[in-house]
Amino acid sequence: MMVILKSAVVVMCAGVLAGGAALAAGQNTPSDVPPVIDVHVHAMDESFPGGGPMCPNEAKFLASDPKTKEAGFGWDVENCTPKLYPAAKGEYLKDMKAEMERLNVTAVVFGDAASVKKWRDAMPGRVIPGTSFTAGMGAGRVPMDKLREAFTTGGFKVMGEIGLQYEGLSPSDMSVDQYFALAEELDIPVAIHMGTGGSGRANISSPKFRGSMGNPLLLEELLARHPKLRVQVMHAGYPMIDNMLTLLQANSHVYVDVAGLIWSYPLVEVNRYIQRLVEAGFEDRVMFGTDQMEWPKLMGYSISIIQNADYLTPEQKRDILYNNAARFLRLDQQAK
Ligand SMILES: [Zn+2]
Repeated sequence: MMVILKSAVVVMCAGVLAGGAALAAGQNTPSDVPPVIDVHVHAMDESFPGGGPMCPNEAKFLASDPKTKEAGFGWDVENCTPKLYPAAKGEYLKDMKAEMERLNVTAVVFGDAASVKKWRDAMPGRVIPGTSFTAGMGAGRVPMDKLREAFTTGGFKVMGEIGLQYEGLSPSDMSVDQYFALAEELDIPVAIHMGTGGSGRANISSPKFRGSMGNPLLLEELLARHPKLRVQVMHAGYPMIDNMLTLLQANSHVYVDVAGLIWSYPLVEVNRYIQRLVEAGFEDRVMFGTDQMEWPKLMGYSISIIQNADYLTPEQKRDILYNNAARFLRLDQQAK
């Protein structure tokens, strides 16, 4: 997860998974909308309290003076039409269900068991459940036996979002190795926050966060210890493109998602980053994601960035929006 942008509230997520993914279009989905998989959604049941309308892809981070009262985020405030609005109180899940049906989206939804269940109940067949051993932005840990249960009998399919960077910890830190060993043993893919989180004011909003702990190459020792581990680098290690490409070149079990970064950094920069990943030869490892937490229309907006990318072929767009995630999550095999 990311620090929530353009809002005074700082959040991090930890996730839990839900059952099999039915990918057939529902009755409210127009028949000509091809399926999309969003591999990075958080199981909120309300838009973030305190959050407001948001303009995506703002162009600048602004300097501030420690002598003044500084906001917890450093994006400049821009105007756009239309802004993305939070859902009305009590309406978020209903709005998300309508959006996911309209856009034909199946999502990996991360959260604890109760939160993810709400999503599964609200939109059966569109939720792939994910949960993690990290508890939000704190250093709390879910007990191993609970985690094993979640992935053996609890229906969870992805271990994430693993937010060690917010604790200032490397994913290769030995204190968390047992969790990755469990994922490897159970053949559960892991989804790890790497890279983004730069709100421009990390020193204020998340004092334990370390940009350096999002370096994709920090995954190398973990991958060496667990050679069968399947890894989703959340936020694609943004903005460390050279190290991200180095890791992808060395490890073919590693995929990336473009969640968060796709709507929260300057648009030219976002497109340049995705283009670089694809043109470096990794078009079969880039997965679409949003980091959906607050604004129901964010999902459609984020899909449109891929759809409008003039540097991607129609086939590459489908790979990013669906095929790569279906392969990574082995959805075709689950359906059998
Ligand atoms: Zn994240």
